[in-house]
Amino acid sequence: MNLDTNTRNYYNGISREVDTLELQVTNSPFNQEQVELLNRLLPTLTGTQRIWLGGYLAAVGGAAVAPSAVVPAQAEALVNASPVSKEVTVLFGSQTGNGHGLAKKTAKKLEEQGFQVTISSMGDFKPNNLKKVQNLLILVSTHGEGEPPDNALAFHEFLHSKRAPQLESLRFSVLALGDTSYEFFCQTGKDFDKRLEELGAKRIAPRVDCDVDYDGPAAEWMKSVLEALGEGSSAPAAAIGAGAAVAGGTESEYSRTNPFQAEVLENLNLNGRGSQRETRHIELSLEGSNLQYEPGDSLGIYPENDPRLVDDLIEAMGWKANELVPVKNSGDRPLREALLHHFEITVLTKPLLEQAASLRSGNGLKALLEAGREQELKTYIAERDVLDLVQDYSLKGVPAGEFVSILRKMPARLYSIASSPKANPDEVHVTVRTVRYEAHGRSRYGVCSVQLAERVSQGDTLPVYIQHNSNFKLPESPDTPIIMIGPGTGVAPFRAFLGERQETGAEGKSWLFYGDQHFSTDFLYQVEWQRWLKEGVLTRMDVAFSRDTDKKVYVQHRMLEKSRELYEWIKEGACVYVCGDEKKMAHDVHAALATILEQEGGLSPEEAAEYLIRMQQQKRYQRDVY
Ligand code: NDP
Repeated sequence: MNLDTNTRNYYNGISREVDTLELQVTNSPFNQEQVELLNRLLPTLTGTQRIWLGGYLAAVGGAAVAPSAVVPAQAEALVNASPVSKEVTVLFGSQTGNGHGLAKKTAKKLEEQGFQVTISSMGDFKPNNLKKVQNLLILVSTHGEGEPPDNALAFHEFLHSKRAPQLESLRFSVLALGDTSYEFFCQTGKDFDKRLEELGAKRIAPRVDCDVDYDGPAAEWMKSVLEALGEGSSAPAAAIGAGAAVAGGTESEYSRTNPFQAEVLENLNLNGRGSQRETRHIELSLEGSNLQYEPGDSLGIYPENDPRLVDDLIEAMGWKANELVPVKNSGDRPLREALLHHFEITVLTKPLLEQAASLRSGNGLKALLEAGREQELKTYIAERDVLDLVQDYSLKGVPAGEFVSILRKMPARLYSIASSPKANPDEVHVTVRTVRYEAHGRSRYGVCSVQLAERVSQGDTLPVYIQHNSNFKLPESPDTPIIMIGPGTGVAPFRAFLGERQETGAEGKSWLFYGDQHFSTDFLYQVEWQRWLKEGVLTRMDVAFSRDTDKKVYVQHRMLEKSRELYEWIKEGACVYVCGDEKKMAHDVHAALATILEQEGGLSPEEAAEYLIRMQQQKRYQRDVY
């Protein structure tokens, strides 16, 4: 709410008079009847009511803001010591939605403390407006090899370019989200933090880097930011930071921190006999959960570790399965249960190795962590698990309680939702490829995918939550054409998209590029695509079965074969969606799109790259890649 100085002084005046004087015709602009009415009313008001009324009258008088927008906290900020509420801009860069969720939480906390908050995706924020920002909070995740999420790409590039302005009057703080199992942990957050400092901005609070279990550190960051912003501002510092805990992001009582036990309704293998792959189609009931989702969102599933691996670890360490070990927020639990449900034992991280080295001296692990062996360390971390670690570095003998204290909490696995809630009310479907392989002398199993394939049947329950993803959404207009590129399990969200478009009667054209290894055994949801093609819900479909021919054929080859038509769809305003493998496919598909723009649109490579960035900013090119 913006008020001119006269208006503010006027209402501050009223506030003081209410405390000290009776209103009279002579000391106010009111007539006798109004004075009597006000003198009857004002002494009955509580402090909060007076503050609210002050803000309300100010807003009505200023005619700038609708009365409903006057929240008590803002009115309080006006009446109290400082004349102006502080303005804070919260920018998030988020691929899977965690950064977005935390940004909303931060904005809510700030508003409750009387700050004026502007919250925006980095993709929607005009970088030229940065000069006008006083306080900037950045919440950003990191992907792949230290890359920014899609909706942070353009802002990241701008800030690191020569066009970035000097920002001496800006105050900022960064919350970086990442995963310590990746080499470039929280790199994008670190980039922003460093660059803003280089441009002259001052930190409100130090950057916090969060691992997958981000709730605690994120809450601490919010607390320190709120405290620092509160100092000298209109927001009462004593109230700041209280209860700054992070909760989940849905309206339902169920969330990432309080998952819903969803009953398994269906669990099918989508691959035919003889396939080298196994892909489970899982249907879960959300009945009674009040969990809501939209096509493009993901489902979080908390898995349990493979009992074979847990038993091997217990044996290798000489522990007892039923000895009690401490588990955060769950008290002391029997070791086997704790290792099955609460701790991550299949992923290694550098911090874990460092802590393991400190538990046992002289076991060679310290040497692996020394400078000069980075590549060896990286390979070891990427290919091994906790059982390898304890065996390779003779950690037998470390007490179980001590050992589990260095393990990360079991994180949930996210799967792109494969169902439309309109087509399947109270249900959610996912498509999960089973991960099994041999490495370093033993069989390795994907935690969640093998649990779903081998140990979950109809009637069982799984702890789940919805991860909203505003970066992967159908276009607002049902008439907008959509181009969907989803090889392998990447096809899952497009089943949700088409289910939704069928239910809503959307008439926009749609084109699916799908690929997998063999037509006869790996054509996921074949019957459904064919039905949608027949019914006109799906306009076109091109497939690439990579191992049916001598030469590999991938989705991007099919796109290039159809480059003229694809270009025409894009020029007509089609939205392009890519889902699936991040490491290779998404890059190759991106390159194919650029080639199509160059070939068919006569753009230079630079212009094609810019065109794709603009499409990303306009939400016409969205990716859900992993
Ligand atoms: P894949 O992406 O492995 O395979 C789908 C098709 O894409 C295959 O025909 C494959 O060909 C082809 N392909 C391989 N390289 C490229 C490329 N550069 N460009 C285009 N197409 C290519 O499918 P998945 O669904 O198994 O895996 C997708 C991603 O999900 C991977 O990153 C995988 O690691 C990850 N993943 C997914 C899980 C899930 O359940 N959702 C579980 C574990 C991992 P070919 O194989 O013949 O080379």
